[in-house]
Amino acid sequence: MDEKTFGEWSLKAAEWGSAYRASLRDRPVRAQTTPGAIAAQLPTKPPQTGEDMAAIFEDFETIILPGMTHWQHPRFFAYFPANAAPVSVIAEYLVTAMAAQCMLWQTSPAATELETRVLDWLRQAIGLPDGFSGVIQDSASSATLSAVLVMRERALNWKGNKQGLSAHAPLRIYSSDQVHTSIDRAIWVSGIGEENLVRIPVAGPLQSMDCQALEAAILRDKAAGLLPAGVIACTGGTSTGACDDIAAVVRIAHKHGLYVHVDAAWAGSAMICEEFRSLWAGVEEADSVVFNPHKWLGAQFDCSAHFIRNPDDLVRTMAIQPEYLKTHGRDGIINYSEWTIPLGRRFRALKLWFLLRFHGLDGLKTMIRNHVSWASRLAERLGANDDFEIVTAPRFSLFSFRHRGGADSDAHNIALVNAINDDGRIYLTQTRVDGRVAIRFQAGQFDMTEADADVAFDVITEIAVRMSNQ
Ligand SMILES: *Cc1c(COP(=O)(O)O)cnc(C)c1O
Repeated sequence: MDEKTFGEWSLKAAEWGSAYRASLRDRPVRAQTTPGAIAAQLPTKPPQTGEDMAAIFEDFETIILPGMTHWQHPRFFAYFPANAAPVSVIAEYLVTAMAAQCMLWQTSPAATELETRVLDWLRQAIGLPDGFSGVIQDSASSATLSAVLVMRERALNWKGNKQGLSAHAPLRIYSSDQVHTSIDRAIWVSGIGEENLVRIPVAGPLQSMDCQALEAAILRDKAAGLLPAGVIACTGGTSTGACDDIAAVVRIAHKHGLYVHVDAAWAGSAMICEEFRSLWAGVEEADSVVFNPHKWLGAQFDCSAHFIRNPDDLVRTMAIQPEYLKTHGRDGIINYSEWTIPLGRRFRALKLWFLLRFHGLDGLKTMIRNHVSWASRLAERLGANDDFEIVTAPRFSLFSFRHRGGADSDAHNIALVNAINDDGRIYLTQTRVDGRVAIRFQAGQFDMTEADADVAFDVITEIAVRMSNQ
């Protein structure tokens, strides 16, 4: 592609992007397509000769776009948000154009030094003490896997990478049943094995890990000759926003020499607002904390912020040649690829820098506080309607509810979610609470307004009434 053509199509792509964003309110949130419909329009054989950009672009619009679910739609209330604030999209255009590999300091010093600085801004923003060092991981799943590998190496006296696991007693990791499935996968991939992930029951209004049960399990395992290695606690669990009592978890874990990783992938963004920090009180004593600015905060995917109290442990676990250990970054040289599993690294700090500067913490706090208050108002409105039951009260901006109706409540609520998503004005997903289906609502999209929460109320009640009358 020559420079002129590259320039023209780059402009066209940017223009398309801004028109697309402006059109979102008029589009159905979830893709309205059937399995295989997109694939059926794609040739089965690869192209032998080059094609014209205009033809490629047209197929993008006619074939691909109808099969997209619009995550930046203001009425995206499903899962968790994956906010890409416009300013972070602009930063990503630049990153894409430069396409640097930022694995070592020298492969792009600005990327390393900016990463150190903006992660320290984020650390301060969420109220972690200055002993924590940050690194950007591609996803919370990778941060959690890294933390589990550190737990493994610490517990095996740094011999696991060399000897494998068969020479040692089984390792044990503890968590509640409210943690994300990325924890299960970290346990599989690290070789620790699912049977050694000990599920601690939850109790109380926030579905917190029962810490007496945690300590009892650790003591039982020690007595049986097993090797307790770490605890994974959560702040804002995926299903319904469960929060462990981090202070209590840390107290017990550290008493027994265990490493503590806190998964706050979604809720961590809310900690820029001081009033939510009581929900993870004690986090300052944790060993490792992850949250995803690519979820609620607005930094385009992928951008997961991983804070570690002692990066030496991480580098000792990950680095092939731990140069950094000798200097601890004090000479300004950090090779962040020694802190992560992949060697190659995108320049992810730029979008955080753009985002934090353009909106300021005040702008981002206002967004989060609005989401929390709009979700809570919607929960009140639904709860005041006798046909609805609030299953879990709002935690941050997430609650779950159920419509009363149908002989089989689970089937009825699944049918309701499907009908709502087929309607297209809003998008919701479901979960299970104590074995029963509940519908989740989370407010979190960057451009959402209070009127969008009102639309959610109207759509939910209207479709529920229609279904009940059928
Ligand atoms: C989304 C989420 C994850 C997974 O995040 P990725 O960045 O997609 O790996 C893990 N834990 C919790 C609590 C989450 O909400």
